[in-house]
Amino acid sequence: METEIVDAAIVISNTIIAKGYGAALTGAGISKESGIPTFRDKDGLWSKFKPEEFATPEALFKHPKKVWEWYKGRYFDVLKAKPNKGHLALAELGSLLKLFFVITQNIDRLHQRAGSRNVIELHGNLFQAKCVDCGTIYPMDEAVKQDKMPPKCKRCGGMLRPNVVLFGEPLPEDALDTAIEMASRSYFFLVIGTSALVYPAASLPLIAKRNASVIIEVNPEPTPVTEIADISIRGKAGEILPKLVHEVKKLLKEDLEENEEENKKEDE
Ligand SMILES: [Zn+2]
Repeated sequence: METEIVDAAIVISNTIIAKGYGAALTGAGISKESGIPTFRDKDGLWSKFKPEEFATPEALFKHPKKVWEWYKGRYFDVLKAKPNKGHLALAELGSLLKLFFVITQNIDRLHQRAGSRNVIELHGNLFQAKCVDCGTIYPMDEAVKQDKMPPKCKRCGGMLRPNVVLFGEPLPEDALDTAIEMASRSYFFLVIGTSALVYPAASLPLIAKRNASVIIEVNPEPTPVTEIADISIRGKAGEILPKLVHEVKKLLKEDLEENEEENKKEDE
């Protein structure tokens, strides 16, 4: 067992025992293991498609049909994908804590499908479409079934758009506020499968650090987060997180047994 995993497990199990809060920031790296193409990798989507042609408000309004056909493809990619061991381990970890938030830059809902309860979607999600005029939200399933692209709002006839954050658009304010609050209140802050290069998501590990949270990075490669991380674990989320959760549970069991031992002594 790598010492970094043990170090991280000690921090997390102590947080659980102290009934403290935890948070995780996740990015494309964790979903890549479910077969969802990343955007920024050298073999990622943006090496084949120009983001300015598909993922900007300008593109959406200029070529709505083209943009919609492309997002439809992304949606069907995501529908086919399944949560992997990393998503499942993170959901299990969350269930051990008094309060745990997964703050994700992913739009695939794989954390929710894995069973994570408190998920903050910084970039929206592909499972909803939103009217650009009246803001009504529709299930994406319904939107993609319409005969003509772009799909239309049933209420006002306005154009629907995928409920995702496009390049140049601000992040949803309430999601960002909750993320900042959780980052500043967390005892530990996991940064998983993201280089956290894009602001304002990139500021979250810094906010956590400033508030004395222990920064634990899980990534196959060093990233800018490595510089501020207290513990860096090199490897894929799907391999590391199950080991980490296993170790946390082992420590919790040992703690429980020690307590029982002490109680017995007191009884004698
Ligand atoms: Zn509308």
